[in-house]
Amino acid sequence: MTSTQAAMLRLSEAVGAANVSSGADINVDDTHDEALGLVPGHPLAVVRPATTDDVVAVVNIATEFGLPITARGSGTGLSGAAAARDGALIIAFDRMNRVLEIDPDNGVAVVEPGITLAELDEATKEAGLIYPISPGESSASLGGNVNTNAGGMRAVKYGVTRHQVLGLECVLASGDVIQTGGKFVKATSGYDLTQLIVGSEGTLALVTKIVLKLVPRPRSHAVILAPFLTLTSVSQAVPKVVMCGVGPLMLEYLDMMGMAATTQGAGMDLGIPDDIKEQALAYLVVVLEGNDDDRIGDDAAQVAEVLSNAGALDVYMLPVAQGRELIDAREKAFWTAKAHGANDIVDVVVPRASMGDYVEAVAQLAAQSQALVAGAGHAGDGNVHLSVFQPDPEKLHVLMMDILATGVRLGGAISAEHGIGVEKKPYFMALEDPVKIDLMRSIKKVFDPDSILNPGVIFDLAD
Ligand SMILES: Cc1cc2nc3c(=O)[nH]c(=O)nc-3n(C[C@H](O)[C@H](O)[C@H](O)COP(=O)(O)OP(=O)(O)OC[C@H]3O[C@@H](n4cnc5c(N)ncnc54)[C@H](O)[C@@H]3O)c2cc1C
Repeated sequence: MTSTQAAMLRLSEAVGAANVSSGADINVDDTHDEALGLVPGHPLAVVRPATTDDVVAVVNIATEFGLPITARGSGTGLSGAAAARDGALIIAFDRMNRVLEIDPDNGVAVVEPGITLAELDEATKEAGLIYPISPGESSASLGGNVNTNAGGMRAVKYGVTRHQVLGLECVLASGDVIQTGGKFVKATSGYDLTQLIVGSEGTLALVTKIVLKLVPRPRSHAVILAPFLTLTSVSQAVPKVVMCGVGPLMLEYLDMMGMAATTQGAGMDLGIPDDIKEQALAYLVVVLEGNDDDRIGDDAAQVAEVLSNAGALDVYMLPVAQGRELIDAREKAFWTAKAHGANDIVDVVVPRASMGDYVEAVAQLAAQSQALVAGAGHAGDGNVHLSVFQPDPEKLHVLMMDILATGVRLGGAISAEHGIGVEKKPYFMALEDPVKIDLMRSIKKVFDPDSILNPGVIFDLAD
């Protein structure tokens, strides 16, 4: 029996033969995420554990046979971090998808990592609660969200995934199982391992349980749409809305092309008069939430006044159903960009007050490269999402490097929420402080001395 045959036999014994696929039986969908241009490798096997003990067994087999492991949630990631590598294992978490507990008294849910955002939303609805983080794709898993530190539209109010994760159960590369944090918001008891693992893209540990904060589910919403002459004027309005005291749930911007693609793709007519449409180069969408329609109405009026004073060409209160449709369509911007042949996407973050300077600089870089760069983004967070259309690979690389370096120069970061994965790694390696990369390598070595957990994701293990 070859070593590969022995490994396959042991994996089948560990999780059941029906939960191990290999060769032609592997579903190609299990081998990639949604990163544009990604060419996934051919894994030795896709393994589907059902319990933490199963995960421990798989990790021990992987270590014994020297097989790298890539964890997979729903494969909606946009950085290539869940892509298969040749001859390695994929651990797919879709069988570990239970809500273990909804605990209203402590305001938490305890879930397995394979549960999707949509499933968690259904489960919390019954209790009148909500998990408030909403990264655009509701088929994404919570394990994936934790490992990418996913953000999304509600971050301006609720922060990102790490702000709602109170604790984890993880299987380490050694096969040990650790519990971090718990059903509490305060802990100053040694290093915060929960937060070290959040956003680590499957490179430090395999997450098998998650303790999440829940909040009461709001009953009222208002959606306000404001067209502006320029994106710079949108970015000047954003801090004023954020600081006006109403605590917006979402502040999304769309440039003219982004708005046209979003509304046309969804077949929507927002009723904006043609003369306004002709002038508007950018739009701001503000969403408010609460429990009282009258109070929301007052807050919406206040936001409308702030927007008018900040130079909006007009302000529209959208019917909530139409507002929801617009937000849904905006969430699907990635699919529209992909369908139109985008060559890469960007999710840079800059300080929100620098967003205007950033998008102006990007427009100049796009013109120099003779590329098309269209955008939308989570304006309240300074998180700029760009679709980059530059079919020449060399020019694309130069343009991407310039776009990302400009964000870093303005005090931002290469990725706000998608992660580095393998797709943004060359830029991360070039633009990040080498001292910090070395520190990350040292941390990786402590957690995973044999480098079996998603090696080569985020950073190269050596220069
Ligand atoms: C249309 C669309 C819109 C999107 N909008 C947003 C958005 O607004 N905001 C945002 O932040 N993201 C967005 N995303 C990206 C994506 O949905 C998120 O990155 C999400 O967190 C990925 O979850 P997943 O379950 O698909 O993870 P995967 O893609 O399967 O994996 C992501 C990473 O997590 C690791 N991982 C998964 N499960 C585990 C586990 N149990 N233990 C250890 N590591 C694990 C993987 O190895 C990989 O490194 C969008 C994607 C699409 C397609």
